[in-house]
Amino acid sequence: MGRLFLVVLVAAGIAWYFVAHARASNSEHELAAVASTIAGRPVGIHCQSFGGELVDVTSEPGKVEFDQYGKPGDKASFKRKVCKALQRLPSDVRKPEFDCVDRDVSCPGRVHDDAWAVLVFAHESIHLAGELNESFAQCKGLQNVEFVSRRLGVGSKRSKAIAKYAWKYVYPEAEEAYRTDACFNGGPLDVRPGNPRWP
Ligand SMILES: [Zn+2]
Repeated sequence: MGRLFLVVLVAAGIAWYFVAHARASNSEHELAAVASTIAGRPVGIHCQSFGGELVDVTSEPGKVEFDQYGKPGDKASFKRKVCKALQRLPSDVRKPEFDCVDRDVSCPGRVHDDAWAVLVFAHESIHLAGELNESFAQCKGLQNVEFVSRRLGVGSKRSKAIAKYAWKYVYPEAEEAYRTDACFNGGPLDVRPGNPRWP
């Protein structure tokens, strides 16, 4: 009886390990599929590990490397907090505290962080598409927030609300290098010119 219990316990442990491991890799895989659609080519996503976070002293939430000719690499790397926010997004959007995105008010920390993470992800995906300029990548990324949210499992209405929230409350708080007066509906950076939809 005791031995059987131990066997069951070990089997459960092994199963848990594989489920957890599969979830983690599925998530990077899923993010890579979304970024590849935006980039228009196959790209990879690397999420910072727990250990990597402990020894990290950099501040940028996401990164794409460009070569000396201005050609982007084939992957984007993200801080652990960005990936965690993107992973929890589909469940977070169902919580009552997320309703603030519909009310045109600034949201509490975790909800705000989730919207921020979607914009960070969209921004780096635009870099992977070949855009070097930070403020252009931010503006075009903003216009992909709704798309990214939907692909990550958020409903259509809420994805629109997250994009509007990102435009109104996340976009303005970025450093000046990430903003441009050219970013507006019908402006030179509008990725859907002639379409009243914004962002
Ligand atoms: Zn950038």
